[in-house]
Amino acid sequence: MDFALSEEQTAIFDMAYAFGQENIAPFARQWESDGTIPKTLWPQIGELGFGALYVSEDSGGSNLTRLDATLVFEALSMACPSVAAFLSIHNMCAKMLDNFADDDLKARIMPDVLSLNTVLSYCLTEPGSGSDAAALKTRAERTNEGYTLNGTKAFISGGGYSDAYVCMVRTGQDGPKGISTVYVEDGTPGLSFGALEEKMGWKSQPTAQVQFDDCKIPAGNLVGTEGDGFKYAMMGLDGGRLNIAACSLGAAQAGLDMTLQYMSERKAFGQSIDQFQALQFRLADMEIELQAARTFLRQAAWKLDNGAPDATKFCAMAKKFVTETGSKVVDQCLQLHGGYGYLADYGIEKLVRDLRVHQILEGTNEIMRLIVSRQMLANR
Ligand SMILES: Cc1cc2nc3c(=O)[nH]c(=O)nc-3n(C[C@H](O)[C@H](O)[C@H](O)COP(=O)(O)OP(=O)(O)OC[C@H]3O[C@@H](n4cnc5c(N)ncnc54)[C@H](O)[C@@H]3O)c2cc1C
Repeated sequence: MDFALSEEQTAIFDMAYAFGQENIAPFARQWESDGTIPKTLWPQIGELGFGALYVSEDSGGSNLTRLDATLVFEALSMACPSVAAFLSIHNMCAKMLDNFADDDLKARIMPDVLSLNTVLSYCLTEPGSGSDAAALKTRAERTNEGYTLNGTKAFISGGGYSDAYVCMVRTGQDGPKGISTVYVEDGTPGLSFGALEEKMGWKSQPTAQVQFDDCKIPAGNLVGTEGDGFKYAMMGLDGGRLNIAACSLGAAQAGLDMTLQYMSERKAFGQSIDQFQALQFRLADMEIELQAARTFLRQAAWKLDNGAPDATKFCAMAKKFVTETGSKVVDQCLQLHGGYGYLADYGIEKLVRDLRVHQILEGTNEIMRLIVSRQMLANR
């Protein structure tokens, strides 16, 4: 058993960290108030190979392991978890396309997906189905030319902003086996978007409903096999859950680093507040919790990389544990900043807001418990 990062993994982390500190961190607050991320950022990230982190080399991707990818998201989140998490969604879609799209579709779209000239959104949730995703109702009717889509997707990160949408739609019977995955390009007639959602965090990412009204796509935009779409969507989520957890971890680490520094500068009762033992113990607790979260996350990533039979369970456990730990830590960081933690200038309140949603999406943390307990009961 080797818990050390390899030289290459350390280099990947350092490269992502340096990029984030230079190109994301200084602008993160501005992008938050703008409610959008400049489109010009994405091809820059694409040049680092981060547009296709675990897409195979044959398809032009970086072919990194899931563990390597968590390092990228941990490092980028130290600059801004909202930007990093958006990149995770694109990567989840890119991997689904790489695994399941046919050669013609791949030849047509993958070069721009890899370079991040095409930014992707993942469309599963609907107004009437979130956790119970297999109850989705958006229909794709087969026509001579392809499919006609009707329905609404809710909460779509990048809705109205992205260049293409990887959508789970119903082509057949009720339940998971009637679901297929299709690729819908921006500008397709019949594709429109709801108003931008006003949110607690992740404010730099536009979130909107995606609407299909007799939206016609060619047959070649079917991804993989009809009826297998739900399976593809769930396979994408295992890795997505690791990445979201890594985003919580990196942001919480950044919060803890800022707090350590702040506590050496802030004085109360004639000494810097880092001299109060009660507060030192809280620092220690945060360090212990984050290190435990990091180890657990990397173990889950290792399981996914190695095709372990309990990889899904470990991804779910790590997602729950790391996202809750991350939120707990940044909340403590805010407390240790006193009133200043509540002010936007200190950068902590943004972390509290941004990380909260990590307990809700990519499967809520209740659904993570459902996955874990189901496996426990089945293995009795
Ligand atoms: C900012 C943001 C961005 C998002 N981006 C995307 C995106 O890009 N693409 C996308 O497809 N979706 C996206 N989502 C949607 C997200 O995945 C869903 O909100 C999430 O899956 C929960 O679904 P829901 O909101 O319908 O809650 P519900 O499913 O209605 O759940 C409500 C509550 O009931 C609990 N619950 C439900 N079922 C059970 C059960 N069986 N046992 C125990 N508890 C249960 C839930 O955990 C939750 O606490 C995003 C959401 C947000 C907030």
